Amino acid sequence: MIIRTRIAPSPTGDPHVGTAYIALFNYCFAQYYDGEFILRVEDTDKDRSTYESEIMILDSLRWLGITWSEGPDIGGIYGPYRQSDRLHIYHKYVNKLILYGLAFKCYRTFKELNEIKKKKTVLKVKDLKLNNEEYNRRELENYPYVIRMVVPNEGICIIQDLLRGNINIDWTQIDAQILIKSNGMPTYHFANVIDDHIMKITHVLRGEEWINSAPKHQLIYKYFGWKMPILCHMPLLRNTDKSKLSKRKNPTSINYYRRMGYLPQALINYLGHMGWSMSNGIEKFNIKDMTDNFDIHRISLGGPVFDVEKLTWLNSKYIREDFDDRALIKEICKWSFNEAYIYNILPKIRPRIHILSDIIHIAGHFFYGLPKLELKSFNEVNIEYSKQITIIQFFIWKLEIIKIWKKEEIFFSVKSISEYFKIKLKILLCPIFIAITGSLISTSVIDSILIIGYDITIARLSNAIKIMGNISINKYKKFKTEFNSVFFKQLNIWENNY
Ligand code: GLU
Repeated sequence: MIIRTRIAPSPTGDPHVGTAYIALFNYCFAQYYDGEFILRVEDTDKDRSTYESEIMILDSLRWLGITWSEGPDIGGIYGPYRQSDRLHIYHKYVNKLILYGLAFKCYRTFKELNEIKKKKTVLKVKDLKLNNEEYNRRELENYPYVIRMVVPNEGICIIQDLLRGNINIDWTQIDAQILIKSNGMPTYHFANVIDDHIMKITHVLRGEEWINSAPKHQLIYKYFGWKMPILCHMPLLRNTDKSKLSKRKNPTSINYYRRMGYLPQALINYLGHMGWSMSNGIEKFNIKDMTDNFDIHRISLGGPVFDVEKLTWLNSKYIREDFDDRALIKEICKWSFNEAYIYNILPKIRPRIHILSDIIHIAGHFFYGLPKLELKSFNEVNIEYSKQITIIQFFIWKLEIIKIWKKEEIFFSVKSISEYFKIKLKILLCPIFIAITGSLISTSVIDSILIIGYDITIARLSNAIKIMGNISINKYKKFKTEFNSVFFKQLNIWENNY
């Protein structure tokens, strides 16, 4: 049997370090057994998936030195490898389940579901059933529907996990899972199982957040009479305070580490260290060392901490030990001192420089990570101090929902905030200007944001909030509620049920 593993990213945002971590372990596992590691894009969430995100994720994994033998970029015999190109396959299989009586069309309206949810925390088939007459009427009138799977009402489901042994999960906790959403797209659970089977995946190494989904997956395999891949739920990466790694506390995007000038060798080495170690205990190893010495049973489940300071230390070790001057110059050029990047910033700085050395003052913010900020700079802005914090936080949230990083989108974000707070755009931009460039004299802030990119922008805005004294959790929640009510359309959680 050929061992086949996969990474199955959803292209709904930045390339996350967690994706690289899971990809790395799947890659090493397959390589160790002379198997195959493939990449499949799970883009069934139509509202949130973007092609730009897919490109970034694939590019980041390549940058880290992770390679795959089949994928949307290179094809392969089990393709297509992008789920949105495989819709006919999911429909073929779901129709079989309907025919066997193992799945059903559910015509319940959003309002009805909310009513049922008030009484039941878990949705079972019996709660969702309509009487025949009503069902026929809705079918005849072409009501929107989802397709759900039949699940047991009670009993214990036993999930076998390579690292955790048997895990017992109570069926009373499991919903009659949606398999096909009302827009015709499959949910993650359904598409993932169908594809793992068709693509002959033998081992699924994925984050522990998926443990509770495993009973549904196991049941789908059972309904079709297929063998389930061996499951291995990896420990979640954590912040230093042991909470789940989140971008509120730590940058989580690979783009951030790349733009800040971390080396791929150091980042991949550090990720390899998350809950795993070499048998000889050495800390500095490359992806080949890891593959050659891979042993899944050396993963410890203790919740590995992703500590940026330790990563920085490891990075400096690489710079000192692995790069001679010539190699380091090459690396620095590759990072930011290259024609392509400077070409980008040139039109912004050309009108402002008199002599070449002016560049350092005018264009420094295009290169450094976080500017040296002083609290007193914000005091010069003609907006109440606490309002400045709210503005910056709102701007962060606005940028988070931009799908394509374009000047118009960034501009529209600030403009809508200025309209909401009824503060002139020119004034509202001041705290943002300081947060991004460290001063009020620089190139246009919108242009700067566009060029430095999303991750460095968010890091600098968050840093400004930190310098101004951070936001308490309560205030943060209050701001978020206010923000959501003004700017954010709630997604229909039933239709988009992941
Ligand atoms: N698309 C899922 C994710 O991005 C894949 C989870 C899995 O590996 O099954 O997390």
